[in-house]
Amino acid sequence: MSFFSAPIAKLIEEFEKFPGIGHKTAQRLAFYVLEMPVGRVENLAKTILEAKQKTKYCSICGNMTDLDPCAICSSSTRDHSVICVVEDSRDIIAMERTREYKGVYHVLHGAISPMEGIGPNDINIKGLLSRLNGNIKEVIMATNPNIEGEATAMYISKLVKPLGVKTSRIAHGVPVGGDLEYADEVTLSKALEGRKEI
Ligand code: ZN
Repeated sequence: MSFFSAPIAKLIEEFEKFPGIGHKTAQRLAFYVLEMPVGRVENLAKTILEAKQKTKYCSICGNMTDLDPCAICSSSTRDHSVICVVEDSRDIIAMERTREYKGVYHVLHGAISPMEGIGPNDINIKGLLSRLNGNIKEVIMATNPNIEGEATAMYISKLVKPLGVKTSRIAHGVPVGGDLEYADEVTLSKALEGRKEI
C-alpha cells in the first residue's frame, strides 16, 4: 500500500525510470513539480513535448537533430571524407568539445553486445556502409573503450578495410591529471598500445 495518492505515486514512478534517478530523488522531483505554479508545470510539459516532436535522427549520420540533414552533415567547412563512428549522439558533443575534429560522424545507436542480444543488424552499421561510396578516405572508430565498444570497432573495421578505406581506432589511455598508480590494468594496457613516438 502506497503512502501517496495514485497520481503522485504515478509521477514518482515516471521519474524513477530516468537514468541515475533512485526512488528518493524521484520523490523529491515529483514533490518539486507538484509545488510549482501550474503555469510552470504546463510550460515544462510543453517544452518536453516540443523537444520530442521537433527532434529526429539525421538521415545521413543518425545524429539527433531538428534539421535533416543535421548541421554537421550539411556544413561546407567540414571534411566529409573522414567519418568518426560513435555509439551515441552524446558522444558527438564530447568530440566537438575538443575542437580538434573537423570530419563528420556516424552514430550507431548502440554497440554489439551478444550478452544483451544486440547483434550487428540491431545497430546502424548498414547506414555506415552505404556512405562508403568511394569518397571516404578514413573511418575513425570512436566507440566506447569497453568489451562491447571494442568488439563493435573490430567488427566494423573488418567490413570497411576490404573496401579500401583506412580504419583507425582512437587511442585510450590514462586520464590527464590522473595518477598512473590508480589507473586500472585495461586502461594502462590500452595507453601502452596507443603510445606515440616523442
Ligand atoms: Zn548528420
